[in-house]
Amino acid sequence: MSKISHFGPKIEFHIGIDDTDSVRGGCTTYIAAQIIRKLVKEFEVEFIDYPNLIRLNPNVPYKTRGNGAVAIRVLVNENLIEEIKRTVIQEVEKWFMIEDEKTNPGIAFLRGKIPTPLKCFAKKVIRDIVEIEEAERIAKMLNVEIIGYKERRGIIGALAAVGETLDGDYTYELLAYRKRENWGTPRRVDPQSVMLMDRETFPLTFNNVDYETGRILITPHGPDPVLFGIRGENPRVLIEALKYIKTGEPIACWVIFRTNQGTDDHLIVYRKISELRPYLPCKIKAIVDSKPEVIEGGHVIVRLRDETGAIDAAAYEPTGDFRKIIQKLEPGDEIIAYGGVRPLNGSKFTVNLEKIEIVKLARKFISRNPKCPKCGKRMKSLGRSGGYRCKKCGLKLVDAEKEVEEIKRDLKDGLYIPPPRAHRHLTKPYQRYGLEKKRKETIKLHEPWYYFSE
Ligand SMILES: [Zn+2]
Repeated sequence: MSKISHFGPKIEFHIGIDDTDSVRGGCTTYIAAQIIRKLVKEFEVEFIDYPNLIRLNPNVPYKTRGNGAVAIRVLVNENLIEEIKRTVIQEVEKWFMIEDEKTNPGIAFLRGKIPTPLKCFAKKVIRDIVEIEEAERIAKMLNVEIIGYKERRGIIGALAAVGETLDGDYTYELLAYRKRENWGTPRRVDPQSVMLMDRETFPLTFNNVDYETGRILITPHGPDPVLFGIRGENPRVLIEALKYIKTGEPIACWVIFRTNQGTDDHLIVYRKISELRPYLPCKIKAIVDSKPEVIEGGHVIVRLRDETGAIDAAAYEPTGDFRKIIQKLEPGDEIIAYGGVRPLNGSKFTVNLEKIEIVKLARKFISRNPKCPKCGKRMKSLGRSGGYRCKKCGLKLVDAEKEVEEIKRDLKDGLYIPPPRAHRHLTKPYQRYGLEKKRKETIKLHEPWYYFSE
C-alpha cells in the first residue's frame, strides 16, 4: 500500500494524542509506540523528529497520571494522509482506557509547518490553565483537525503536543514496554543493574534512583504497559544505559522520545503573589514572612510575601529532607519559590513547593545582658527602670547596654530541590543545571531510536 508514496510532493504531517490512559492502565506513549510501529511497517514515511513526549501543567486537577501528551511528526506524501489518520484513530481506539470516567481522549492532526499561535498555545497549556473551548477555537482558526472523545478534554493536550516543538531546553526518554501477558504483574527489573547504569552514565542520565530511600525510579508501579523509562541528555547515552538494565521479563518494544521532562519549562514565568490562582505553576520572588511551622503529617508551612500580597507555601512530607531546609528559613530571607498553587478549603490556597532558591539570607542577631566587668558573670536586668545588677558581686550598672551578637545561619544561599522521588516529570534536577540544550534547526535521528520485537 505504500508504493504510491514515491511520487508527488511530501508535506509535514503532525499527530497529537492525549489523555488515553487511566490509573487502571494504558499509556499514551504506548499508543504512540504502536502507531510508530504501524507507520514504519506499512507506510513510506520519514520521521522529522523523535516522537515528542510533552508534559503539561502538572497541577491540573483532571489529569490522569503524569499529564503527558505525545506528538509524532513525519514527512509524507499527501495522498497517504487519510490512510495514516485512519490508522492513528484505530490504534488510539484499540488501546485507550475509554471506560474510565476520567479518561477523555483527544487526537489532533496538522498538515504543514507548525503555526506560531499553536506554539504559544502549547506554552500556555504547560504553564497555565486552558479550557476546552479555547482549544477548539484555536484548532478551528489554524485548521487543525481535532477528534475528542467523551468530554473531549484530551484535545487540549493533543493540540499542545503538536504545538510544542521543543525549541528550548529538552531531554530524552527511552521507554521500554512489557509484553501484554505481563501487564499488571510485578515488574522484574534488577535494582542492582539500575544502580550500576546510574553510576556509569552519570551525569548524562537522571532520576534513575532516589538515593535518600534507595528506591528505583525508572520503573512505574501501576498496571500500565511501561516496563521502565530511562531519562537522559541524548539518545546515544540512553542506548548505552539500556545495555546495563537486567530484566526478568522480555522487552516487547522500546522507543526514544524527545521531551520537556527535567527542563522546568512550567516554571519559566515569574508571577506576583496577587496573580496566583489555583492550579497555576509559579515562580515568585518573595520574602519569608514567618517562622516556618511543622504541621500534622510532617509538612512544613512558611508564609511568603512580595509587594502585592502574602501566601502560605508548603513543603509536604514526601519532599523528605527538603523540609529541613524550609524549616531553617527565617523572616526576612529573600528567596525564589517554585511550585504549584493548590486550593485549600474555601477560597484559600497555598503554594506547593517544588524547589527554592535562597537569594539572600537575612542576618540574625541575638541580644544578651552584659557581663559583669568585675567578676565576668552575666548580669540581671533591673527591668523597666533600666540598668543591670550582678547577682554574684552585687555591682550595679545604670548605663550598660545589651550585647548584640550576630548568629551564624545554618543555611547557605543557593538552590534547593527535593529528592528525585518527589519530582514532577518537568522538574529540572540538580545535575541538569549547566547541561541545558537549545535545539538546532533540524533534529537528526540517531539510529536505532526504536525497537519492536514483533
Ligand atoms: Zn559581678
